[in-house]
Amino acid sequence: MSYDYDLFVIGAGSGGVRTARMCSQQGLRVGIAESQYLGGTCVNVGCVPKKLFVYASAFSEEFEAAKGFGWELGPANFDWNKLRDNKNQEIQRLNGIYGHLLDGAGVELHEGKATIVDPHNVEVNGQQFSCKNILIATGGTPFVPEFPGSDLVITSNEAFFLEKLPKQIVIVGGGYIAVEFAGIFNGLGVETHLVYRGPLFLRGFDQELREVIKEEVENQGVNLHFSTEIENIEALQDDIYKVQFKNGSSLEAGLVMYATGRKPNIAGLGLENTQVETKSNGVVIVDDYFQTAEPSIYALGDVIGRVELTPVAITEGMALTKTLVEGTPTSIDYSNIPTAVFCQPNSASVGLTEEQAREQYGDDLKVFRSRFRPMKETLGGGAGKVFMKMIVVESTDIVVGCHMVGEHAGEIIQGIAVAMKAGAKKADFDATVGIHPTAAEEFVTMR
Ligand code: FAD
Ligand code: NDP
Repeated sequence: MSYDYDLFVIGAGSGGVRTARMCSQQGLRVGIAESQYLGGTCVNVGCVPKKLFVYASAFSEEFEAAKGFGWELGPANFDWNKLRDNKNQEIQRLNGIYGHLLDGAGVELHEGKATIVDPHNVEVNGQQFSCKNILIATGGTPFVPEFPGSDLVITSNEAFFLEKLPKQIVIVGGGYIAVEFAGIFNGLGVETHLVYRGPLFLRGFDQELREVIKEEVENQGVNLHFSTEIENIEALQDDIYKVQFKNGSSLEAGLVMYATGRKPNIAGLGLENTQVETKSNGVVIVDDYFQTAEPSIYALGDVIGRVELTPVAITEGMALTKTLVEGTPTSIDYSNIPTAVFCQPNSASVGLTEEQAREQYGDDLKVFRSRFRPMKETLGGGAGKVFMKMIVVESTDIVVGCHMVGEHAGEIIQGIAVAMKAGAKKADFDATVGIHPTAAEEFVTMR
């Protein structure tokens, strides 16, 4: 039986674009549908614009630090419209690059929402395409719980395109997005309140790391409200919202942003026309090889709800390419995935938290930690401190976790992740000569 396509990818985000390009370059006939924007969440309302905003927000601290190094600066003015518009222009450029990448790889792009008609047919803009295989790479979208006033809040999607910056913002949530955006708004001069339902944000990260991040974020001037839940939100006059907490207190702010997780994009996808199974939260269920319960349909990236990170979606796409092109069922190794939270200062982790390591190895552990004032702050005058932590299994000497809070933590932990993937022992770190003077050298001098 001949099909229009060997593979039809739904969603041109991180995972979809990589799979489509790789499969097409290796000889498959590939079509891709995108309903919103090329590059998906990461390029348009995720990693890329977020990092640009993080850079923008860090300047306020840099200007302060510069004084201690002899710089005399006039009053600093920040122009939100300029940042937003320059960011939009850069994203437009990237959208174009994604289009060229797909085109250059021979992938046929269909701009529109795709619906699965049956296990071998997809419809886009009223046109049907037959396909041997279908890949669901539709990603996710912000989740906001329902409560009185939930229609008044924005999510990260809107935060990237604000008409103006508010004077005060309330950010709800305690995950990556809440913590990163608290740093962004705070750095841009907005009075920032972060409201989280639990006792300490960034659940799932190393406990000690979370405590240090709390101290540093507070140091930066973010107002933290932990163990606090919202009862309702009410619009007062002139773009002012009253946020009523369940504990009886309240705050007024020009903007309320919810960063309470994301849900899979499966609405209107036509899954009911297939055997594809989902969990109650909409996550598409796949096996180790990204195959759904419908043999011709695969899924990867955020929509399968495993690890919602761009490099993970890309790695899954590379594995699926191998499966589809070479016929070798290929899975991926989810251990030791490094990750950074781009708060200020950055934090980054790879491997086990101390809590996970204790569960796995009991007392057979050695934990090394270091906290020090970064050299830049000696003249710069800031109050921030660098924190580093290394978790080692005593009997084997293998390093099973590294965590850091401090400038460039993401850049540093990325290198350490290579060593850990290669099974590095503490002795290998000890035998490595440091680069002086850096913060990173501390990881090879911990004793
Ligand atoms: P997506 O990139 O979401 O792409 C899915 C695409 O499918 C979208 O373009 C969507 O429009 C399209 N689509 C959906 N349904 C249909 C349909 N029916 N027909 C056609 N098209 C459809 N990750 C990191 O690693 N580092 C970071 O710093 C980072 N920062 C982030 C910051 C924010 C604010 C957010 C929200 C996310 C961030 N992430 C980050 C996560 C990262 O963006 C995602 O993990 C990644 O984009 C997932 O890729 P994906 O291919 O699964 O889905
Ligand atoms: P996260 O899953 O990281 O965090 C969601 C937060 O919302 C948690 O603190 C959770 O609390 C809280 N929450 C969930 N439901 C409710 C509710 N009903 N009421 C109040 N609070 C609630 O999601 P994010 O939205 O921050 O980010 C989505 C994903 O995107 C991340 O998990 C990450 O994978 C990816 N991302 C990665 C980034 C990076 O690599 N730097 C940056 C941004 C996003 P609790 O902990 O109590 O459950």
